[in-house]
Amino acid sequence: MSIHTSIELYDRALRKLVGGVNSPVRSFGAVGGTPIFIREGRGSRVVDEDGNEYIDYVCSWGALILGHAHPRVVEAVKNTAEKGTSFGMPTSLEVELAELLCEAFPSIEKVRLVNSGTEATMSALRLARAYTGRTKFIKFDGCYHGHADSFLVKAGSGATTLGVPDSPGVPALITAEVMSLPYNSLEAVEKAFEINEGEIAAVFVEPVAANMGVVLPKKGFLEGLRAITRKYGALLIFDEVITGFRLAYGGAQTEFGIDADITILGKIIGGGLPVGAYGGKADIMHLLAPEGPVYQAGTLSGNPLAVSAGIATLSWLKENNPYKELARKTKLLCNGIYGIAQKQGIPVQINFKSSMLTVFFTEEPVVDYTTALRSDRKQYAEFFHHLLAEGIYIPPSPFESWFISTAHRTEDIEKTLEVIDKGLLKLRKY
Ligand SMILES: *Cc1c(COP(=O)(O)O)cnc(C)c1O
Repeated sequence: MSIHTSIELYDRALRKLVGGVNSPVRSFGAVGGTPIFIREGRGSRVVDEDGNEYIDYVCSWGALILGHAHPRVVEAVKNTAEKGTSFGMPTSLEVELAELLCEAFPSIEKVRLVNSGTEATMSALRLARAYTGRTKFIKFDGCYHGHADSFLVKAGSGATTLGVPDSPGVPALITAEVMSLPYNSLEAVEKAFEINEGEIAAVFVEPVAANMGVVLPKKGFLEGLRAITRKYGALLIFDEVITGFRLAYGGAQTEFGIDADITILGKIIGGGLPVGAYGGKADIMHLLAPEGPVYQAGTLSGNPLAVSAGIATLSWLKENNPYKELARKTKLLCNGIYGIAQKQGIPVQINFKSSMLTVFFTEEPVVDYTTALRSDRKQYAEFFHHLLAEGIYIPPSPFESWFISTAHRTEDIEKTLEVIDKGLLKLRKY
């Protein structure tokens, strides 16, 4: 397989783009080698600039639950574009997407559309602080909530990969207000509230963590967060940027039956275009401008192209309810990998939920950030490059989720397992 065009493009990119990319994890920093430049995608596959085809298990970091270039999404974007791409005035499309979000998430009475998950989380924090009159907040180690200053404390995703949990340029004054606690530890949360009584505005959580690799909430963890935040008058903020419309149509909160105060959405709701959203109880959202004094705005917020891609995606999901089938394919892949790993004597932990999964190269169960970081990076890098060379694209970092889309077929999974069989065999030399 030749990737000489990607190598040339990367070289050119490095001269003018910082690190050759526009988002750090794309640079293959964690696995080494040259990022492949993508020419096009269709269904479960992407094709690089040299014409090599890959089965894609990243799917734009989970945004593309219907796979690449889904006909309904493409048509919606085309039709909308022909009528104009942005107005800075309200459109019916925004109302339609808002209605779909509120219907899917019973805890969302009112919603605000923005352009990214980062924007949604930072705005939700501002709102939570205004609503409670408190400034401190809790997040969990390894959970990622976008790159706003306040959240760059033991953040997962690219921050983990690069080994820069705290970024220079973030004032200590700001992170002094953040408590990052071990995921799945209710005791730590209870203790933080006891010590800081009356000062904590909110708890932010990925209800199923996916930015340190997939880590499931222990039984009772989310329920416990709900009870503790109620007891201390703080808001429970579910960051469902990944899990929303992924775990179930109504996200993790529907799956686990938890009533969140504010929910953050992104990725899938833009159908591959830039959209984020935050919404919740009307009395909280009511504080936002123009109804209330909490300022937050956006020139391109509710952009017609992005919103129509979101509507096309959500309406397809609503009509076709693919979640059982997605879970079946994911299980097929996970069971397959586990069986092969056992046969080859390679210790792995596979965490999965619905159509998200991570293969950790470690012997102990992965239940939080500390245990996730035990995954062998060298083994993962080798595994990644074996798969890449055989036309399978998994995340270029051991601490990210793989995603299965509705476009992945059983044959894709079977082909992947064949390649993995050979890949794990190679790892036996370690
Ligand atoms: C991706 C992600 C974000 C940030 O969204 P962007 O659109 O990349 O800014 C926030 N929270 C979670 C859980 C995410 O996975």
